[in-house]
Amino acid sequence: MGFFVDILLPIPLERLFTYSIDASDATDIQPGMRISVPFGKSKIYTGLAIKVHQNPPTAYEAKPIHQILDTVPMVLPKQLQHWRWISTYYLCTLGEVFRSAVPSAFLLESETIIYANKFDDIESLDLSDEEYLVLEALQHQSSLKVDELVSIVERKNVIPLINGLVNKKLIHTKEQLFQQYQPKMVKYVKLQQHYEFEENLQTVLDGLKRAPKQMDAVLTYFQLTSQTKKPLRLKELEAKSKAAYATIKGLVDKGIFEFYEMQTDRVTFEPNSKMVSDLVFNEEQLTALGSIKKSFKIKKPCLLHGVTSSGKTEVYVNLISEVISTGKQVLYLLPEIALTTQLIARLKAYFGNKIAVFHSKYSLNERVEVWNGVLQGKSSAQIVIGARSSIFLPFCNLGLVVVDEEHENSFKQFDPAPRYHGRDAAVVLAKLHDAKCLLGSATPSLESYQNTMTGKYTLAKITQRYGNVLMPQIELVDIKEATRKKRMKGRFSDRLWNEITETLDAGEQVIIFQNRRGFAPIVECTSCGHASQCPNCDVSLTFHQNRNQLRCHYCGYHSAILKTCQACGNATLDTKGFGTEQVQEELIGLFPDRTIGRMDLDSTRGKFAYAKIINAFEQHEMDILVGTQMVTKGLDFRNVGLVGVMNADNLLNFPDYRAHERSFQLLTQVAGRAGRTEKRGKVLIQTYNPYHSILQQVSNYDYDHMFAEQLYEREQFKYPPTNKIIKLTLKDKDYNKLNEASDWFCGSLRNVLNAQVLGPEYPAIARIRNQYHKHVIIKVKKANQTEGIKKSIKRVQNSFNAISKYRSIRLAFDVDHV
Ligand code: ADP
Ligand code: ZN
Repeated sequence: MGFFVDILLPIPLERLFTYSIDASDATDIQPGMRISVPFGKSKIYTGLAIKVHQNPPTAYEAKPIHQILDTVPMVLPKQLQHWRWISTYYLCTLGEVFRSAVPSAFLLESETIIYANKFDDIESLDLSDEEYLVLEALQHQSSLKVDELVSIVERKNVIPLINGLVNKKLIHTKEQLFQQYQPKMVKYVKLQQHYEFEENLQTVLDGLKRAPKQMDAVLTYFQLTSQTKKPLRLKELEAKSKAAYATIKGLVDKGIFEFYEMQTDRVTFEPNSKMVSDLVFNEEQLTALGSIKKSFKIKKPCLLHGVTSSGKTEVYVNLISEVISTGKQVLYLLPEIALTTQLIARLKAYFGNKIAVFHSKYSLNERVEVWNGVLQGKSSAQIVIGARSSIFLPFCNLGLVVVDEEHENSFKQFDPAPRYHGRDAAVVLAKLHDAKCLLGSATPSLESYQNTMTGKYTLAKITQRYGNVLMPQIELVDIKEATRKKRMKGRFSDRLWNEITETLDAGEQVIIFQNRRGFAPIVECTSCGHASQCPNCDVSLTFHQNRNQLRCHYCGYHSAILKTCQACGNATLDTKGFGTEQVQEELIGLFPDRTIGRMDLDSTRGKFAYAKIINAFEQHEMDILVGTQMVTKGLDFRNVGLVGVMNADNLLNFPDYRAHERSFQLLTQVAGRAGRTEKRGKVLIQTYNPYHSILQQVSNYDYDHMFAEQLYEREQFKYPPTNKIIKLTLKDKDYNKLNEASDWFCGSLRNVLNAQVLGPEYPAIARIRNQYHKHVIIKVKKANQTEGIKKSIKRVQNSFNAISKYRSIRLAFDVDHV
């Protein structure tokens, strides 16, 4: 009887694939280890071992595996369980989850080359038969590939063999096995062994009398190491002794010092500077902490609804410190990690080197290190702060999950599959681990708040700002009226302009919010109304003044700004609407002596650009910061006296059933940036419609009415949270084929589903990157069995996939579309 292993491949196919293995491999392979396998004609994939068994596949002949890549599992059973939930719930394949869950370095393949070290007579070494074979082969050729080694020793699992030989210092390898991961090596300096005795030392110093710089370096070395006995970095010695590299290298050449290298974790932090025990909580915080802990006892997730600047972060800190003292791991999820340098710094002050940060702007190597740290339960990764993808990490001992700013849409993954919601997947993850789970927000999502009503979550509240700081005063400014009375300076009402002047004169800073980047959304011909369109997408191009370009915000297409209209040749082009660039320019005109910065997608490209702007603003190197919703995200600036919103209407009128909820959240959050110290802050919101109920609710901090009103509307129109929405997008380059296929799919859904099916419909932007899009919306009453409906959808999808003329059509399911 042969042995087999079921392998999960990182591809969008539903099933596992069975490969044959030897009896010895069968004992070596554990579920969760990576195995490389041949697939198709000549491809090699890195797959994941799921199960070892003795049942040959019936439909095909099992091919042998290629290599075993791990000696211990790198994916854990609970993790796989979580991935399975994601694939079922979000209607995608387990392979798609696998592919996006692991750092791509784990899936890449490259050759490892093995070289022999210099050693004496091979016959005199104490070697196993296999080791002997390898070394013998290396006497005949300069290097070996892993493949060749596999055929020499005739077995698949050669990693222990290679590692053994490396440990015995008989061979070395170039490149990690199949990984791009390279541990970062740091250079250290130490004395050659025989100089470590005092008497020899004097000889050294005597010998250096005519080399004062080198003498200095040696003396500094002693100063730095005599007490700590810690390894000394070359960099540190250079800095402290002010010696050049050449000086120290000279000492190495003289045989006094030697260099050595050690692996270091790339992402290291300073030790703690604040003590959790020093936190003094106010009454509301204490009550909230009590409710949260009670909720944890009955094993329910808790939603913390605390107004902006109420001290939610400190509450998290308290809970985190309790959990890590029991040795368990903590996951702290944030919507967009790039936007949260401030928060990371705050948590680092308490937990220092126990924090690992995980996000996509980090390099491959850094991500691999965090993965391994979490897998091995290292204390350097006991607290993971990360964006949504950190729910995929191999937690071995998870004790607490915190989802901060739980209302943010950016927790939802759009493309590619799995289109999961980070918050919801985190709640499920906590449950699988029997871990505590806390969601926090100043403006909770309707979904989560509704869950506290139905008893799925519990609710804790903080209604006051910490330290008796008052909520900022919010004023709605009617710009229709101001325009009529000719009281506008460009886009600024006299009211807003005056307040900015006063705030700046008082030495405080100002934040101006405009939810659109670029200069103006559209450049239009005043005579024929033509606006330049993206050649790849169904949208008008946005004018970016500082580059003098028209750009497409969907595909990145850009062209130089035109002097005349493409349609009629007229030379009178004008801009319509406005973005952050234009606001910045007007402010420069209005306040020529002030420094005016801008924060949006265009000004924050690159790893540190965002942090630089925040820093500069914190250091008061800018008086006014103009920004898109980036400026709303959890920033804690101490000196902001005024927040201005240029135009609330384009938020409210956005064609989306969530537009009102979102406007409430966005405006409340941006208002929350004002007046975070004793002096009460001010917020001015410009609008054409100051009587809009959402704006009234924002200015009165009336979350409850907003919630009740929005919930009622959602129920009326069968939207979440009372109903579930599954959105299907079909894409193709061929317009006619897409129409036909969409009709087929939609018709089949209507035949089998006991749910409302809307569409197929072209979205507002029907063509992106030359692909036509068509949408189908499925609305499921929650009382209905969503599970059954998803199964039926899968069956329709399988029939669809079997139709050969529709092969080119791309399908994307978006469950709980936001
Ligand atoms: P939130 O996260 O709710 O917006 P923060 O956690 O940023 O609020 O708190 C607002 C400010 O109050 C911060 O500067 C924070 O350091 C301070 N603060 C909150 N709670 C405490 C506490 N218990 N002890 C000391 N300072 C606190
Ligand atoms: Zn485009």
